[in-house]
Amino acid sequence: MASRRPARAPAARSIRRRPRRPRSTGVPPAGLRIGCGADAHALRPGRRLVLGGVEIPHAAGLLGHSDADVLSHALCDALLGALGLPDMGTRFPDSDETLRDRSSLYFLQDVMREVRARGFEILNVDAVVLAEAPRLQPHLETIRASLAAALGVPPSSVGLKAKRLEGLGAVGRQEGIMAQAVALLSGPRA
Ligand code: MG
Repeated sequence: MASRRPARAPAARSIRRRPRRPRSTGVPPAGLRIGCGADAHALRPGRRLVLGGVEIPHAAGLLGHSDADVLSHALCDALLGALGLPDMGTRFPDSDETLRDRSSLYFLQDVMREVRARGFEILNVDAVVLAEAPRLQPHLETIRASLAAALGVPPSSVGLKAKRLEGLGAVGRQEGIMAQAVALLSGPRA
């Protein structure tokens, strides 16, 4: 007959306390993730100019392996950065021939599947396109709606601006177009 184990003394109550949540409303709660992204592509005659999935009439378009949608690329990197993942070049290498001339909305939607698969959602994104020409102001609302649809968020969650560089640098000389973006995600608490 097996002998019974001696009863253990009751464990002492832990005196460790859970860390106090900061009272300041300026401190974001766990689960908020921010990311930034930037991209640039050269302008070449004979190429289509696509920004945020929208084709913009212009004498030149952006050079790249895909459709070279610099705005979508910057947004992809902002979202990937918020998740702490490698950038677009790693995820979609230009050595992949299946991605040649691919719409960059495909990349954006793929990244959004990754965002949602990890339990995150977009609180908002904001982006600026730096272009000397063409004038983008008349197209901003169309581009914004296109991005919102690709991201699966309301247009109110998408900020978009266009800036000229007043003739300064390569962008000012119309040699290329740049974009910058930030993304704020909300997700599972740590
Ligand atoms: Mg790019």
